[in-house]
Amino acid sequence: MHPGPRRRPSAASRTLAASIVAATLVIGATSGLMIMQMRRSAWDQVGHVSRNLLESVEHLVDRNVELYDLSLQAVVEGLRNPEVDGLAPSLRQLVLFDRAASATGLGAILALDPQGAAFADSTAEVPRPLRFPDADFFRIHKEREDAGLYIGKPLRMAPDGRWVIPLSRRLTYADGAFAGVVVGTIDIGYFDALFSHFSLGDQSRIAVFRESGELLVRTPRRESVIGQSLTTAAHFPRYLEHRSGQFVAVSHIDPAEVLISYGRIGDHSLIATVGVPTTVIAALWRPKAMAIVGLVMVLCGGMIGLTLALQRELERRGKAEERALAANRDLARLAHTDGLTGLPNRRQFDEAFARARGEAVRTGAPLSLLLLDADRFKRYNDTYGHLAGDEVLRAVARVLQRQVREPEESACRIGGEEFAVLLPGISGPDAAARAECIRRALARLRIPHIGNGGGIVTLSLGVAEVFRDETAGQAFSAADAALYEAKRQGRNRVMVRPGSAEGARIA
Ligand code: GH3
Ligand code: MG
Ligand code: MG
Repeated sequence: MHPGPRRRPSAASRTLAASIVAATLVIGATSGLMIMQMRRSAWDQVGHVSRNLLESVEHLVDRNVELYDLSLQAVVEGLRNPEVDGLAPSLRQLVLFDRAASATGLGAILALDPQGAAFADSTAEVPRPLRFPDADFFRIHKEREDAGLYIGKPLRMAPDGRWVIPLSRRLTYADGAFAGVVVGTIDIGYFDALFSHFSLGDQSRIAVFRESGELLVRTPRRESVIGQSLTTAAHFPRYLEHRSGQFVAVSHIDPAEVLISYGRIGDHSLIATVGVPTTVIAALWRPKAMAIVGLVMVLCGGMIGLTLALQRELERRGKAEERALAANRDLARLAHTDGLTGLPNRRQFDEAFARARGEAVRTGAPLSLLLLDADRFKRYNDTYGHLAGDEVLRAVARVLQRQVREPEESACRIGGEEFAVLLPGISGPDAAARAECIRRALARLRIPHIGNGGGIVTLSLGVAEVFRDETAGQAFSAADAALYEAKRQGRNRVMVRPGSAEGARIA
């Protein structure tokens, strides 16, 4: 069996496919928008929380620096007071460093002379032999009168190697000349302890660094990076563009992409940052997004599967309908066809005759009818058997099929061994000639029939041209009468209805 040509999908099937594609697109677009909205909301939320946290960090550092500055200022003022100079060393130390001692997290405060050597020490009556002539804070104050409160580069303190941030102020003589520096230190661990309460989560980090790039505080604590310069980071210039802001960059310290919120701390040339890895933000929305994607895929997959099943069912029904229609057509054809010869049957003949007569009346063309009957056919059956008789009937049908010019003309088996031929456009004498042709054509086959005259199968034919004023039945009877006359006159001949030459035609 050859595969048939690929059928075009039916209109219903195409509508179904279009609807499912549209529905899938709508669901896909809606869930896409939802996911984008979830992502934006997660980023907004983290951005907002980071900014709030950053504000707290800035505020905390600012307040502590201000507080320490007050202590330094008290020392500066005390040293300016000539009465303090005259006090006994123990009392002098008490007066100078009274306020400093109360400040939490503040290390030792030292007063340095113009050469950088300590001459007063908050921790000892007799100052320790410390010298800082090369420290950045000492040089700045020596060079500049207006340095104010200066926050220096982080230092490691002996003996335990603690990291501290030096805060310093300039000492001046009455004439404004450089008289030395008062310097105090804040333990970096102190800020770490404060910030550790703030963390956004395990992976977020807080940092404080100088505008010149040196890292002061980094929470969670990372000892190795304190004091490192951040200026080599590609994004460092962005901190200097605005007082505060937010951007995404790859962290300088760990190679992770981070949402960085940054801002200046008061007027102290310090910058604070809060960094949240983008993976943390993604974790807020991605699992839900994945669940939605999964759900949508299942839904769409289900819908597509259902549609395919429905389409198959529609196609199946379409094919079944087509088969039923074809079967109906076959049935209809069978109802009009003679099973033995394949010629149209009596019912078809009646319809064709009525149609041909109507057409002849309308156009005025002649119409003739031939009736044929096999001669002595009963005897044939009796002699050669019924099956052989059937074969003869088929042979007669083949002769008729060759002799009539379809589709205008038609031959039918109207019963038993009787046949009819309709010849539209053919008048009586021409019809008689055609009948004679048919008779001879069969005789030429020379089918043996010992019970018939001549020893072969022959036909008798009656010819009637259909008259204008007669019914189909009357014309049929006239042809039948002519056939009867042919039989009566000895068979194997053509007889024309009497009066046909001069009879009025239907035209
Ligand atoms: P006549 O020359 O007068 O027509 O003689 P006849 O024997 O042909 O006439 P009759 O009407 O007596 O017999 C017709 C025979 O046709 C009877 C029947 O056996 C045979 N016949 C009718 N239908 C069929 C058929 O389908 N197959 C076969 N084999 N024979 C058929
Ligand atoms: Mg007969
Ligand atoms: Mg007969």
